Amino acid sequence: MTTVANHLPTTELQAIDAAHHMHPFTTGKEINENGARIITSAKGVWLKDSEGQEILDGMAGLWCVNIGYGRPEIADVAARQMRELPFYNTFFQTSHVPALMLAKKLAELAPGDLNHVFFANGGSDANDTNIRMVRTYWAEKDQPERDVIISRWNGYHGSTIGGASLGGMKGMHAQGGLPIPGIEFIDEPNWWAEGGDQTPEEFGLARARQLEEKIKEIGPEKVAAFIGEPIQGAGGVIIPPATYWPEIQRICDKYGILLIADEVICGFGRTGNWFGSQTMGIKPDIMTVAKGLSAGYVPIGASIVSDEIAKVIGDTEFNHGYTYSGHPVACAVALENLRILEEENVLEHVRNVAGPHLKKRWEELAEHPLVGEARVEGLMGSIALTPDKATRAPFAADAGTVGYICRERCFANNIVMRHVGDRMVIAPPLVITCEEIDIFVDRARKSLDECLEKIRADGIFKAA
Ligand SMILES: *Cc1c(COP(=O)(O)O)cnc(C)c1O
Repeated sequence: MTTVANHLPTTELQAIDAAHHMHPFTTGKEINENGARIITSAKGVWLKDSEGQEILDGMAGLWCVNIGYGRPEIADVAARQMRELPFYNTFFQTSHVPALMLAKKLAELAPGDLNHVFFANGGSDANDTNIRMVRTYWAEKDQPERDVIISRWNGYHGSTIGGASLGGMKGMHAQGGLPIPGIEFIDEPNWWAEGGDQTPEEFGLARARQLEEKIKEIGPEKVAAFIGEPIQGAGGVIIPPATYWPEIQRICDKYGILLIADEVICGFGRTGNWFGSQTMGIKPDIMTVAKGLSAGYVPIGASIVSDEIAKVIGDTEFNHGYTYSGHPVACAVALENLRILEEENVLEHVRNVAGPHLKKRWEELAEHPLVGEARVEGLMGSIALTPDKATRAPFAADAGTVGYICRERCFANNIVMRHVGDRMVIAPPLVITCEEIDIFVDRARKSLDECLEKIRADGIFKAA
């Protein structure tokens, strides 16, 4: 076993990494020059690096390690399943116990009539499934011209061709010829950045009504579905105004358009309920899940779909699937993760203990001279950095310059907080304690102080 005590020296590990390992969403040249920080082990909410430093992980890995690191029950279940049945497919008239039991469990947990599960390996490919599923659904209902999916600028739905096409990240579209045909976009409900003089409530309604305008523009008979994250995660933890989702639901109902909730981050307790759709009061026809489904211990994702969609799709052969759809080890691990969430009352902890405590401590950061808004829903939060709170102005420097500096200060102070442009985001493991939240927020404040000091010295603490 490689441990902090016996692995190669850090500089050698960094050199190997630089020579051979290509990092996702990273400028290779930059990380290779600076050297990656090598994470060697983790327990609870604490990471350990190759130098023996302990880092408080405010991002639950990548929005996924919700039960915390190092749970031996998960390792035991995985080992047992590997011994019993490491793999079998579910393509050709066969099934196996972990897949069918996990499908049943997800049907129980999911709201409404979302009772059917199509497995994938993560969120991106589950969204690819959704594209093909909704288009096949309408084709089977003799409306093949209904193939347009409406999504939102600055939404994130993954990095495959389909997932990145559904997502509204312009930097992703720019590489590789995206989006695929038949995807249309409306603006995001980001009041801080785009709300102007409107109240959040007015703005939320206005942004939702863009969906109706877009449907009319395309022609209602051509629109298959709308997709959105209940709360945008990778876009900067954008918590929409309360007026937004009810209006989206009304419009989807009015035009008979399928509603896809991408629950990859919000699902499994992140907002204090099983699903973000429940927190936002919506009734999706399909939910995309991944990340928290297995707490990141193994890759797995899924589309959870309604009785109606499963029935219509079931009338034909759906020519779609992944070798590892419903992988037995991944399903067994997910089931154990869900057992832990339930039996250890993790959602109650988010709702009644950690969530309220984080909200209180986090909102104190709004007093900091560098911080505009500081918001939390459940255990996901963000702060908007700004040179001018009153006008919500962006910085004169390129977007992300200050956020990057802040993130560097956080990392130096041994906390993980990500930056999305000039927003800082957090989504700690759901099992984080109040003491750990205090440590985190204290270090975040120190990092903000250091960031402010640096950007003042650099002369970039000024509005655009
Ligand atoms: C992470 C994420 C995805 C993509 O999931 P992968 O497992 O990385 O493929 C899709 N949707 C949302 C909302 C996500 O946060």
